[in-house]
Amino acid sequence: MSEKIYIFDSTLRDGEQTPGAKLNPKEKLKIAKQLAKLNVDIIECGFPISSPGEFKAVEAIAKEVKGPVICGLARALPKDIEVCWEAIKKAEQPRIHVFLASSPIHMKYKLRKDPEELLNMGIEAVKYARKFTPEVQYSLEDATRSELDYMCRVIEGIINAGARVINLPDTVGYAVPEQFCEMIDNIRNRVPNIDKAIISVHCHNDLGLAVVNSLEAIRHGVRQIECNINGIGERAGNAALEEIVVAMIVRKDYFKDYHHDINTKEIYKTSRMVSHLMGIPIPVNKAVIGTNAFKHSSGIHQDGILKNMQTYEIINAELIGGKAGQINLTARSGRHAVRHELQQMGFTPDDEEFEKIYALFLDLADKKKQVFREDLEALIADSIVYTAPTYSLEYLQTVSGTKSIPSAVVKLKKDKEIFIETATGSGPIDAAYNAINKITGLELRLEKYNLRAVTEGRDALGEVSITIEYQGKNYIGRGTSTDIVEASVKAYLNGINKLIAFYAGGNGR
Ligand SMILES: [Zn+2]
Repeated sequence: MSEKIYIFDSTLRDGEQTPGAKLNPKEKLKIAKQLAKLNVDIIECGFPISSPGEFKAVEAIAKEVKGPVICGLARALPKDIEVCWEAIKKAEQPRIHVFLASSPIHMKYKLRKDPEELLNMGIEAVKYARKFTPEVQYSLEDATRSELDYMCRVIEGIINAGARVINLPDTVGYAVPEQFCEMIDNIRNRVPNIDKAIISVHCHNDLGLAVVNSLEAIRHGVRQIECNINGIGERAGNAALEEIVVAMIVRKDYFKDYHHDINTKEIYKTSRMVSHLMGIPIPVNKAVIGTNAFKHSSGIHQDGILKNMQTYEIINAELIGGKAGQINLTARSGRHAVRHELQQMGFTPDDEEFEKIYALFLDLADKKKQVFREDLEALIADSIVYTAPTYSLEYLQTVSGTKSIPSAVVKLKKDKEIFIETATGSGPIDAAYNAINKITGLELRLEKYNLRAVTEGRDALGEVSITIEYQGKNYIGRGTSTDIVEASVKAYLNGINKLIAFYAGGNGR
């Protein structure tokens, strides 16, 4: 009989630790609902004690998202566990995830406690968490650099205390497949009560081995895989969810004894949504979901593909819900046609959301002959990203040229107030940013600026993503327009609005 592999998604917890990828509670909820459609088994949606904004976001997800287990993270401290439970208790199936380091280097330098003391602390934490829910998961942080004897004792004690899932994280992405699996085998052979818990892994990608370590672990008895959409996460990221689930399907011959319940047709959409909302572009050559993953440029390959798809393509784009038919919308397309296309792409906006998208569509179709699927995706992202902006763009005019001093006039609206400023700069975008800085009075540093064309052709929609720094923290903003100066200003304002929302949400500490 085929064994089920539980897919534990940590996009909203570990994934959100990607530098600059801060989401507001509304955006987190939007992604959580999409993860439920993707049918992940567990959504780890945050670390409730870390800030009041984070608590609110986790609480909203626990109340509204049905289907998956809703999991919150907590250190092995009573206060953390209480706050975590408060945030997740309204969920259909709430899970408390307690973590505590088990490696000598973490115990000695980070926690500054001796191993026996920490072992007791872990056991007490699990017992305490069990008072709230039977769904308790325990992570031995930095497991791959921990001593085996000690880990076995911790795991035995933790299972006796009532933990249902034991997670073995490769916190620093140090493991190589064979050693990693050997560690799992040893634990399974030596811990007497190991059959009372599910073993889970959480792999980081510092050496590019996160996916392969996770996949191999399945064949060594691991039944839960922690992974993130687009492989985002701390540093080089975590194991990519889409790569793991698609590999298990495409290589069914190798993984014949295992299955998962992911609705793969939702992968494309989920991947784009996460990328847009977090402002982290997907590399074109990214496995499974990169835009080049299904493009063939060499003549020999194209010829082969025309004769038989399988010659050079092992994954069918339809499996992940991508590229199902070209669309062709113009300025004359009515509401019905646009709504139909959105549905084809798997987006079912409510009336208010739809009107926002449709207004953006008409505006774009005026400037662009043909609207493509990628354009619609960018518009959808615009309509959901710009939730309750503090500042919005009313008017923009820039002057630039070979002999003139670049200058900008910017008019912004905040609540009902209008602000106008002019400024000069090294170019039109710099001038516009200087004008915005005068209005907001914020001391910002532009860390990164990135421009890409959403589709091909001279009338393509330009997408700008920027990273700004404010008081030591990074914020990502994005904006689109057929005019790249306008797209740049929108991206800058989006970043500013996010930073203002972050402070307003009680996160600024
Ligand atoms: Zn991690």
